Amino acid sequence: MEVVIVGAGTFGGSLAWWFARSGDDVTLVDQFEPGDARASSGGETRFYRCAHGPDTEYTAMARRARTLWHELEEESGEELIVQCGFAWFAHRADGWEAASERTLVAEGIPVERLDSSSAAQLYPSFGGDDLAFVLYEPDGGVLRAERSMKTLTAQAVSHGARIVRGRAGPDGATVVLEDSTRIQGDVVIWACGPWLPKLFPDLVSLRVTQQEVLFFDGGPAWRTSDIPVWVDYEQARCGTADIDEAGVKAFTDDEGPELDADAELPTTTRTEADVRAYLRRRFPSLAEAPLLRTRSCRYELTADTRLIGAPHPEHPSVWIVGGGSGHGLKLGPPMAERVATAIASAATLPAGFALGQRSGSESASVLSPERTIRRVDPVGGAKRDGDQSEEHRHRASQRGDRGGGLVERERDRCSLMSCGQPRHRRSRHARARRRRGHPRRGVLRRLLRRSRGRRR
Ligand SMILES: Cc1cc2nc3c(=O)[nH]c(=O)nc-3n(C[C@H](O)[C@H](O)[C@H](O)COP(=O)(O)OP(=O)(O)OC[C@H]3O[C@@H](n4cnc5c(N)ncnc54)[C@H](O)[C@@H]3O)c2cc1C
Repeated sequence: MEVVIVGAGTFGGSLAWWFARSGDDVTLVDQFEPGDARASSGGETRFYRCAHGPDTEYTAMARRARTLWHELEEESGEELIVQCGFAWFAHRADGWEAASERTLVAEGIPVERLDSSSAAQLYPSFGGDDLAFVLYEPDGGVLRAERSMKTLTAQAVSHGARIVRGRAGPDGATVVLEDSTRIQGDVVIWACGPWLPKLFPDLVSLRVTQQEVLFFDGGPAWRTSDIPVWVDYEQARCGTADIDEAGVKAFTDDEGPELDADAELPTTTRTEADVRAYLRRRFPSLAEAPLLRTRSCRYELTADTRLIGAPHPEHPSVWIVGGGSGHGLKLGPPMAERVATAIASAATLPAGFALGQRSGSESASVLSPERTIRRVDPVGGAKRDGDQSEEHRHRASQRGDRGGGLVERERDRCSLMSCGQPRHRRSRHARARRRRGHPRRGVLRRLLRRSRGRRR
């Protein structure tokens, strides 16, 4: 089967890898190189977790993602997932985290509940008196985003995929490049992230916003891949330790101002004060940490924060895939598996992946498809979704208004053609760990290891 895919982000790259290794004849088209900072899948890292509140479908898909990313790691020799653990800071005993815990347990996914004094052992410094508990996913962590995008493409190429660099548009079921080259296939998939509404304005409704990620110099104590990702779901703040010497990552998950998919990413920051205020309370040792840099990227948000994956209503051989909504990067491979399986059996995905306007007024977030987040207008003021549930209004009011100015620094661009050259081979230790089947990394073992490390 000849498959043409436009877009080499997490969805297009995963689809190219999936179809190419299944023996299909794949052409992957992109205007940029994989991992480019202008694409939604660019940048250093993305969170990997399975907690999705009561949503069993997304919980199971996230778990399946882990298996498939590990398959890609095995195939490529790249280390893409950093399994540093994942901590959710719960403010209420019976909130979203408790719902997540029930779903994770029901799905057989490792999860532990910690009190705040146990959680304090996980971080170089910690203030958790306001927390009801901490939900800990030992198998959670981060995905190296840019490296994962390069690896997906490289592996697709190693299975015979052809890469075409150029900007494309649809003409019926045909892909047309800017130089008028026409590319046809038995199947055509448009996986163009924030650009989808420009290509299919009548079919795809996405809100494209500018989000900021800040990187701080936390010093040696934070420069390790053994500190869990942290998310304060209710206060919409999250971050990681200093992984790969990129700096301690922290950001607000409040929805940023709208930004056209082709607009330059802003180079100034509007969120530093908010992020610092949170760090000062939660991780006192980061209170005065110097800001190393700020990077902007785009969320592409469906109204209900669920993914899109459906055939074009007039051209059944054409599919549209995307709507990552701040949590989609990890789901690239399982989504590719589902779309490929549906195409092979002339089926469609469930209604939740449909094109068109979605019901529900919730905004998406890196945190969860279920939560509504505060919107920020282009001058830094805040406005809230007009149709929120009581629960969401309560959470938003707890967060209060925050404002700011704007910033960022240009980041290094990656190279498509270097994507076949793995730069970070997996260590012997990691390979052995994987052969042993990733034994469960319990908190006690982690604490023991950390205290040994401190003694050293
Ligand atoms: C700040 C931030 C934090 C996030 N955190 C997480 C997280 O923790 N966990 C998680 O799983 N996800 C997270 N996400 C979401 C996730 O990164 C995105 O939803 C996902 O990467 C989107 O992938 P995509 O393939 O749909 O789009 P993209 O990565 O944007 O890929 C689309 C590709 O299509 C190409 N393209 C577009 N139009 C054309 C055209 N006309 N011709 C040729 N090529 C074209 C583009 O160049 C681009 O390469 C986060 C996103 C952001 C911005």
